[in-house]
Parts: sequence; structure tokens; C-alpha cells
Amino acid sequence: MKKFLTLILALALTASLAACGSSNAPASSGSGSAGSAAGSGDASLTTAVDGVLSMATEATFPPYEYYDGDTIVGIDVEIAQAIADKLGLKLEVTDIAFDSIIPGVQTGKYDIGLAGMTVTDERLEQVNFTDSYATGIQVVIVSPNSSITSVDDLFAEGASHVVGTQTGTTGFIYATSDIQDAGLGEVKSFAKTTDAVEALKNGQVDCVILDNQPAQALVAANADAGLSILDTEYAVEDYAAAVSKDNAALTEAINGSLKELIADGTVQTILDKYISE
Ligand code: GLN
Repeated sequence: MKKFLTLILALALTASLAACGSSNAPASSGSGSAGSAAGSGDASLTTAVDGVLSMATEATFPPYEYYDGDTIVGIDVEIAQAIADKLGLKLEVTDIAFDSIIPGVQTGKYDIGLAGMTVTDERLEQVNFTDSYATGIQVVIVSPNSSITSVDDLFAEGASHVVGTQTGTTGFIYATSDIQDAGLGEVKSFAKTTDAVEALKNGQVDCVILDNQPAQALVAANADAGLSILDTEYAVEDYAAAVSKDNAALTEAINGSLKELIADGTVQTILDKYISE
């Protein structure tokens, strides 16, 4: 029944993860123009703006990216900052719609997309992905006393559920194919994860399919609503940074930095700082 299992990405380049902190970076707005120039750390490296590593993200995805006051913080921001430090570049983070990230990277407006983004075959046709730095799990959030008590309930014969997702995410893609196209219900998509959770609280959707870590954070942030996460997982995925296919040197440079940051424990320390299980 669970066709989605076959959809799950082949690409698992993850090495072992390991330790050591790094600094945060401030949010910025609307970066990105053409221009090409070398980063100060590596003369052969080209970025959209000289000396800058511009990162597109969607900042309703705690603990990977979220606002702390006016600043975007989280795992992805810290990992990108550590990479930028290694490459001698200044990190700039811009918050845009999730489904605008890949187009923004493709056109060169942003150098990288780092957004708890899952490596998929379809996306690999549009952008390069760096090595993976974390694992994501798609889970299902339900309201108290929901008739949906396991992922299998979504695929039961005669099922008819309204499923909330974030536009353009793998949750959206799986639910569209596994549920809507299979005649088992309808998919509603929202610009922000927080909007999808609001829709669940308002009864506009019967469940929300979302990555595990933001799901946990959003359930905790809405404790009064009594939402819960089903025990069964919908899918397991790899997160990586998206880079333009036109900038293979940048993918390579980031992979070089990532290898070091994994080997010396920086990546694991960043993950441990935000994820406590
Ligand atoms: N991991 C999911 C995806 O890549 C969701 C990412 C997100 O919403 N930031 O589609």
C-alpha cells in the first residue's frame, strides 16, 4: 500500500556525523543580483555577490530555520555559517517561500538553498545537492481524538481525508500521489508550516504531513491544542544543500568544507544543540 516507500531517495552520501559549535548569522533581505566574483577564501570560487554566500531558506521550519526575534537561527543557519567561514565568505540568509528556493538557486539569485531540503530525483534534475548532513522523517500530525491513528489509515480502502502540507515539500508530493491521485482524499497546501498547523487546529484539514523535527516543535508550540504525532513514519529522507548545476565548483567546495565539519564533529555538535533525543 505504501507506494511512497519506493519514492524515497536513493542518495545517501551521509558520512558519520560529529562536533564543535559555530556562530549564528543575521537574517537579511532580498539579496541576489548577478555579478560574479571570487570569494576571499578561494579565488576560483564564484558566488552571486562577491565575498558573500547567499542562502535561501524558508524560516518556519524549527529547529532547522526559524526566527529568534528578527534573526533567522537554527541548524541550517549554523551549518551554512560554518561552511561560509571555511570558504572565507560572509553568509547572508534570506527567507522566501519553500517552493521558490530551487528556482532561486537555479537562476543564480541565491548561491545555496538550505532548508531541511530533501534530496529527491526530481530535484536532482534541477539542481545539484551537496553531501547530506542530516536525516529527515516525514510524520503525520493529528488533532485530539482523530480517527486517523496510524499512517495506514490514510491508505485504507474508502478513506477520504483532507491532508495539510507545505507547498512544494516532499510531504506535499507524497500526499498528492499517494492520497489525492489515489482517490483517497484531498491535499491542501500552505505557504508556511505554521499555516498548515493552524488549519489542523481549525478543522480545515484532518492531518498534516511534515518533517519530524518541525512537527515536534510545532506540536509543542501549540500545546493547548493537544495535537499529536502518529507513531508510524511516513518516509525517511536525506537533507542536503541545493546548489546551481552551473556552479559545480561551489558544490565541490561546500562538500570539502562539509567533510571537515563532519569529521571534526562540528555538524554533530550543531545538531545536538538543537535536537535533544
Ligand atoms: N524536507 C521537506 C522537503 O524537502 C520539507 C522541507 C521544508 O519544508 N523546509 O520537501
